[in-house]
Amino acid sequence: MRVSKMFLSTLREAPSDAEIASHQLMLRAGLIRRLAAGIYSYLPLGYKVLRKVEQVVREEMDRAGALELLMSALLPSESYQASGRWEVFGPEMFRLKDRGNRDFCLGPTHEEIFTQTVKSEANSYRQFPVTLYQIQTKYRDERRPRFGVMRSREFTMKDAYSFDRDLEGLDKSYKAMYDAYCRIFDRLGLDYIVVDADSGAMGGSGSQEFMVKSDAGEGIIAYCPTCGYAANDEKAECTVTPMEKEEPKEIEKVHTPNVGTIEDLVSFLNTDASRFVKTLIYRAGDKLIAAMVRGDRDVNETKLINYLGVNEQDFELASFDEVREATNAAVGFAGPIGLKIPVICDHEVMGMSNFIVGANETDYHFINVNPKDFEPEAVIDIRTIKDGDPCPKCGAPISTTQGVEVGHIFKLGTKYTKSLECTYLDENGKAQYPIMGCYGIGINRTMAAVIEQYHDENGIKWPKEIAPYHVIVIPVNMRDEAQAQISENIYNTLKAKGVEVLIDDRNERVGVKFKDADLIGIPVKITVGKKAADGIVEYKRRDSDVLEEITIEEAIAKALEYAL
Ligand code: ATP
Ligand code: MG
Repeated sequence: MRVSKMFLSTLREAPSDAEIASHQLMLRAGLIRRLAAGIYSYLPLGYKVLRKVEQVVREEMDRAGALELLMSALLPSESYQASGRWEVFGPEMFRLKDRGNRDFCLGPTHEEIFTQTVKSEANSYRQFPVTLYQIQTKYRDERRPRFGVMRSREFTMKDAYSFDRDLEGLDKSYKAMYDAYCRIFDRLGLDYIVVDADSGAMGGSGSQEFMVKSDAGEGIIAYCPTCGYAANDEKAECTVTPMEKEEPKEIEKVHTPNVGTIEDLVSFLNTDASRFVKTLIYRAGDKLIAAMVRGDRDVNETKLINYLGVNEQDFELASFDEVREATNAAVGFAGPIGLKIPVICDHEVMGMSNFIVGANETDYHFINVNPKDFEPEAVIDIRTIKDGDPCPKCGAPISTTQGVEVGHIFKLGTKYTKSLECTYLDENGKAQYPIMGCYGIGINRTMAAVIEQYHDENGIKWPKEIAPYHVIVIPVNMRDEAQAQISENIYNTLKAKGVEVLIDDRNERVGVKFKDADLIGIPVKITVGKKAADGIVEYKRRDSDVLEEITIEEAIAKALEYAL
């Protein structure tokens, strides 16, 4: 391909709203352009990479025995109504009506539609097990689209669904996908970690996420360097650290004027945040609840949501008015004593003595409170794990790191086959529900994650597997006949051998060509300059600082060796 003809437009500066490296570089290298919040177009160079990511995923899915098909993105509402997810998805689902006023959505994920397909196509036990997949566009009206294609409102997902006759079969299908995912992310050169995850709104008995370690990640991974335990922070269990028991003292109400935050209280009462228990009021569906954790801990909303069995969409911190309704006090003075709404208390609090809580009265707290002084509805683990907390498996200190979730695999069970009445006849002619698993990879997000791990201050450094082109030939001076001719020869030789090669035939200064070559991340650069007339060119790898002056033949041989 000739750079002069490839519709390339690179930018020296990234737009200021691009916060993370991959977003900045995808814009600067001319891979994507923003159309609206969370909606992007792929320009030719970007689309080429995206298709290569798809191809790696496709090859490994095929190798694992999954069958590719393609569903529509425009989906009738009925099966989502049947599964209950027409409601569950809430505002995240893009909904529309056809001219006959029938409800449709743009599919956010396709469990229902695959289940419906298996229901109509597979009736006999002989047709199981089966794993089907597609690589297709998904739509989610994300609350916070950001980081470019990492969290967008339209994205490409590889989604696969397995259907088995028994749990052993599910385990096998799940393992086959797990192994395929490892091969995919290995081939892409990603440094990733597989973590236990929350099954959330999907239902089901277990799930794992493939997380790429990166500061740009929105997920927190808790892992144990000692025993290998790894979970995301929504899921990671928190154990109770035993605390010294004190003799319970007499409760006292103290005046704490305008001291509504933990930080203010710590300085006002001259004590430590771990001596407090904070009480947060949430709205869960149409009721209010209170959640209690130690003052220096964070409430884990996923754990609360799972305990309460509510939709994520229907769960949020209560408004000022709702807090006042529940506590008769301003925000910052809630406590468990005398509270009329259900209290869910973190199990760690039960081991604390003589702590401080809000008094449900503006400007007042109680001190010397003990677990005997209130009655929680439940005592469970509702806090989020932190760096240094004990590992729930072995007790050694946990480490945490940020990660980007690129893939997610679930054991679903029969939630969808049951709600959609999808059955087959077993050997005895008896109707049975297939047991499902589902497996997603975000193609665009994976592409961005690769850039997060493969870049420097000059641009992208594509790993070979998904580099849009492997070699770029750069004539230093296009007006120099010998340079132009030799460049053409190298380009044609490599192209004839099947190498994906670029020639930068633009009438640009060589500095501009070098900058662009680095920015778009082409792995091998052959520079044809003054010495070319004597048969010498420069050979440089994007991932190395070594610049070699070698003969034209050697450069061609090295480029072939790299690319093929
Ligand atoms: P997240 O927690 O990041 O919102 P999710 O749990 O909603 O992800 P899944 O429903 O499991 O994600 O989707 C499977 C995969 O699709 C994810 O692992 C991720 O790679 C990708 N994905 C999900 N949402 C988006 C999005 N808004 N933009 C780009 N990719 C996404
Ligand atoms: Mg999501």
